[in-house]
Amino acid sequence: MARVVVVGSINMDLVTLASRFAKPGETILGERFLTVHGGKGANQAVAAARLGAEVALVGAVGDDAFGAQLHEGLVREGVSLDHVARIADCGSGTASITVAEGENHIIVVPAANARVTPAQIEGAQSTLASADAILVQMEIPLESVEATLRLGHKLGKPVILNPAPAQKLPTEWLKLARYLTPNQHELAILLGADSDEDFVALMQRAPAPVVLTRGGDGAWFRDGGEPQHQPGFKVDAVDTTGAGDTFNAALAVFLHEGIAPAVRKACAAAALSVTKLGAQGGMPTRAELEAFL
Ligand code: ATP
Repeated sequence: MARVVVVGSINMDLVTLASRFAKPGETILGERFLTVHGGKGANQAVAAARLGAEVALVGAVGDDAFGAQLHEGLVREGVSLDHVARIADCGSGTASITVAEGENHIIVVPAANARVTPAQIEGAQSTLASADAILVQMEIPLESVEATLRLGHKLGKPVILNPAPAQKLPTEWLKLARYLTPNQHELAILLGADSDEDFVALMQRAPAPVVLTRGGDGAWFRDGGEPQHQPGFKVDAVDTTGAGDTFNAALAVFLHEGIAPAVRKACAAAALSVTKLGAQGGMPTRAELEAFL
């Protein structure tokens, strides 16, 4: 069984469905409200656990009701939470999402996620040292992303950096990653390049190996040599939320099999995830993935 350590965010998504968006200063009635467990760190941890990995999460929730619910949900999924801090006098991370007119408006308040410190990452050193793969995204402070890259590198563990939400990072940090897993838009921002620059050229000048996701087209990967294409699996897409998180999780879980088989399984798992509603809702189990392949 692969051991995966995820360092990242834990959020409660507060989703309001309405027939239209409220104008500034206006109050309108919505149609439905729901809370959904999310955050890229938590999503990737859940996806990896469903795929049969032994998963530990490093992150933080607040001491509010959402924190308790998020904690409980992750325990139910079998994710180890020894390194998830419960921060006193602090709220849990939230994403307030309004869906209307086929669009969405999203406001993220990082709250406890902003309190994930390099010291906390270093405190999880023995857990990171036991990992087959380490996954980190960018919804926690950048200094903690850097600490994860440095510690993983020092321990000789492959760190997968999912650079989302994207911002430009120092080349020296990127070199510490075993793989970068952006989409095209994120890769351009990460490298400080023009967003319409050809993605193959961008992959070729990235300072670390890249696995680039391209929605229904699948993924491209380059680990030295020429970029290779893994076509997407044909499915009836219902909701693509969380496809990237499922992809990253599967890549980490199957990385020990080699990059080409891992990318193929990541594309398959992510394709399955888009056939159902919700980010965590659509994440397949290992049995579902094996049946699909
Ligand atoms: P998100 O932020 O919405 O999770 P992303 O931009 O990080 O998405 P995508 O490139 O959209 O990631 O999707 C990740 C992977 O999911 C793709 O590489 C592909 O393998 C799979 N995927 C996404 N959309 C589809 C689709 N419509 N059909 C089949 N596979 C898909």
